[in-house]
Amino acid sequence: MTDQTNLPLGEPVYFFKYDQNNSGGSFHYDENLGENVVVEAHSPGEANEIAEGLGIYFDGCSSGDDCGCCGDRWSPAGRWGGDKVEPNDWSVFATAEAAIAAHAPDPDDKLKLRLKGDQLVIHYLDGRKEWHFEDTTFKNRWSR
Ligand SMILES: [Zn+2]
Repeated sequence: MTDQTNLPLGEPVYFFKYDQNNSGGSFHYDENLGENVVVEAHSPGEANEIAEGLGIYFDGCSSGDDCGCCGDRWSPAGRWGGDKVEPNDWSVFATAEAAIAAHAPDPDDKLKLRLKGDQLVIHYLDGRKEWHFEDTTFKNRWSR
């Protein structure tokens, strides 16, 4: 459960998802980052600042860190809607539970990528970090 008691009244929080692109053919994993990273924040701009503090970067191709044909590894939240936030079921979630549900095991997944869920790490505003479906990274998906 998220403790929202310190948040200003009337300021909703959202859960912004950073979907890692395996630029250059591999994903980057560390203590904060996995294939799907979700950041709790009041706005896309705040989410992007927090994400950068976690090691996410948004200019990988132009800086030469990412493969130009594969594209940037990370894309910023709010790149289409600006600071306007509209929850959906793929990039902005109204609750952590919705983010988890969107990555939960899918018994009907014909590509078998989500039979055991999609690896997901949620970073809450209070600093907590929560991993879900941790054993389902892309690198070990094929060995089961
Ligand atoms: Zn490439």
